[in-house]
Amino acid sequence: MPQALHADVLVAGAGPAGAAVALGLARLGYGVCVVGLPRPFDACEGISRRVVEALRQAGFRQALEQISPPVLREVDWNGERRAQNAESLLWRPGFDTALIADLQQAGVRVMPARVATVLHDDQAPGLRLADGTELRARVVVEARGRAAPQGRGVGLRGPATLAVLTRARGPRAPAGSAVFACADGWVWLARLATGQRYLQFCLAADAPGLPKRAGLAAWARARIDALPEAQAWLEGCVPEGPPTARASTASLHARPWDRGVLRVGDAAMAVDPLSGNGIFQALSSATTAPAVINTLLLSPQHTALALDFHASRLRETFLRFARIGRDFYAAEARWADESFWRERSAWPDALAAHAPVARIDGAALRPVVEDGLIREREVLITSEQPLGVWRVEGVEVAPLLRDLPVAPGDRAVVLAHRLTQAAGSDAQRSHLRAWLQRHAVDVAPD
Ligand SMILES: Cc1cc2nc3c(=O)[nH]c(=O)nc-3n(C[C@H](O)[C@H](O)[C@H](O)COP(=O)(O)OP(=O)(O)OC[C@H]3O[C@@H](n4cnc5c(N)ncnc54)[C@H](O)[C@@H]3O)c2cc1C
Repeated sequence: MPQALHADVLVAGAGPAGAAVALGLARLGYGVCVVGLPRPFDACEGISRRVVEALRQAGFRQALEQISPPVLREVDWNGERRAQNAESLLWRPGFDTALIADLQQAGVRVMPARVATVLHDDQAPGLRLADGTELRARVVVEARGRAAPQGRGVGLRGPATLAVLTRARGPRAPAGSAVFACADGWVWLARLATGQRYLQFCLAADAPGLPKRAGLAAWARARIDALPEAQAWLEGCVPEGPPTARASTASLHARPWDRGVLRVGDAAMAVDPLSGNGIFQALSSATTAPAVINTLLLSPQHTALALDFHASRLRETFLRFARIGRDFYAAEARWADESFWRERSAWPDALAAHAPVARIDGAALRPVVEDGLIREREVLITSEQPLGVWRVEGVEVAPLLRDLPVAPGDRAVVLAHRLTQAAGSDAQRSHLRAWLQRHAVDVAPD
């Protein structure tokens, strides 16, 4: 007998990734139920302007109100000091509560419960809750972040890294953050306008002297006392609560889709916090996941295409952030011989994080998101976007370059004519022209 379904889609975890998938699916008309409990620790995180924009585009409103305006971030790296208004701070407990409020406002059901097991099943995957209740759906989304069990597949893993987070309360002062390096790792400091301070160490998971949980508070106190950079930040502060230790190793799961269950966010791919982009990458897989799920449910003949889209984007994003992280580590040369810095400045490989020049390498058929579905379309493969560029400013770019004349002068003239026909406005045309020229494609003047 077919099992009764609790929802079209069940989402395990109500962090930024789970919430973004749920909002996107609700917009496509699916019945979604999110099952999640708040993270069991207090943390503060820093995000850039583009994360704020990604959250806005994903449809969050109340969560945005929890984000501070950009604060002064002091950086001391490789002996060079800089300060710029580059980072907004968010207090995760307040932000996570607001994500749930946004879901409820959008009509998404939220169950505050602990997921004990994700039930893999091609026909009716589900969730078993801690109280034994079983829920079934057409698709399950695994969005429990780093807490999601690895199950059948670790794909790529960076050097094992541990983050130890301590908290303190002190006098009110302008919000701000700081990052600096030390011989065996790096430290991030944040101060909220409320007076709350956070100090986070990132160290090798097997760093000598790192104690078990019971000795962590004394260890952290001694380390902080020995950090000259931390003293001014923590002046007049009283430590609050025990430190939290959590894994911060970069990891890419080998099976983002497994028998009815789609992984998103940190459950699919978690980046090193040094890249400062965890929430951004969590949103990047979560905001395209609704189109992947919509394709699985509405257009099953395109299942392989949709899953390839999801997996290849996760891998590409993971490697890009891993290489960006590697370059940050390599830029700190004072302790280059220490194992912490040596291992991380060589992982994942020696390939450049950014293409040295923008170049078009050809056209190919690749999966893209079109009208809420994954479809195969002709894209331009570029040195910066190896998965392909389908549209620039809303205009499909591969047809612009199809069957151009061989003579360079003629090509440039035909291209200029095609731009005029394809673009709806002068602004659109000049953006397209600039994009092509940046990719070393000549376009004749108008
Ligand atoms: C040390 C460290 C520092 C970081 N600093 C930054 C930073 O400054 N900026 C930044 O952008 N990113 C940062 N990140 C990354 C960022 O925290 C994550 O990338 C982001 O939160 C991932 O979102 P997510 O929704 O995938 O997972 P999460 O945010 O972890 O959400 C998962 C949700 O699932 C819930 N959950 C887990 N297990 C269960 C269960 N069994 N039952 C029910 N619910 C469950 C959790 O409580 C949580 O609400 C940092 C990460 C680490 C490790």
